[in-house]
Amino acid sequence: MAAATTKMLKYVPPETIPADMMYFDAGGTTFHTHTCPDGHKWMCNSPYCTHLQALCPDHDGEEPVTIGREPWRR
Ligand SMILES: [Zn+2]
Ligand SMILES: [Zn+2]
Repeated sequence: MAAATTKMLKYVPPETIPADMMYFDAGGTTFHTHTCPDGHKWMCNSPYCTHLQALCPDHDGEEPVTIGREPWRR
């Protein structure tokens, strides 16, 4: 497993997330790349994303659904 250099992620291979890439940890294992209409890319590992061209959470977009906090499970 990775050394304790990051608190947010359990394990992210360096080749998966570039050092300057913003990402959202949704508890998944497979990252994909979103393209924010603001003009930058960001990555997340939510398995529930359906479109990759929406605004990121930093630009008032909705946060990807996090595993274990699915709103439809309440
Ligand atoms: Zn996503
Ligand atoms: Zn953005």
